[in-house]
Amino acid sequence: MKFKIEILEDICKGCGLCVSFCPKQLFKISEKINIKGYHPAEWIGRPYFISEEKFEKLEKEKKNLISCVGCGVCYNVCPEAAIKIYKEAMGVEFKNEKKSGK
Ligand code: SF4
Ligand code: SF4
Repeated sequence: MKFKIEILEDICKGCGLCVSFCPKQLFKISEKINIKGYHPAEWIGRPYFISEEKFEKLEKEKKNLISCVGCGVCYNVCPEAAIKIYKEAMGVEFKNEKKSGK
């Protein structure tokens, strides 16, 4: 099953917890600045140190074991409730019970 992440950029305070805790290292801090003046997190969907080309090759070989596994760690560590997790195939939000924008 595939998952994708949405970051509510203008809520994110760029604390970097999602970057630090994602077991697959799928986040980085963006160079852009949001409306609050922070550099928000960006979900890149692949480990930042692996090129897109190499990632696609590895994904095929390892049957999607490298990208997001939907573990929910990023969602749970985010103090701003700025992360949503979707099941990619269904396009349906699978958990985001926290209210965004405290
Ligand atoms: S759900 Fe888990 S694997 Fe997917 S981006 Fe969040 S922390 Fe990383
Ligand atoms: S944990 Fe939340 S607030 Fe912190 S950088 Fe990630 S998305 Fe932004």
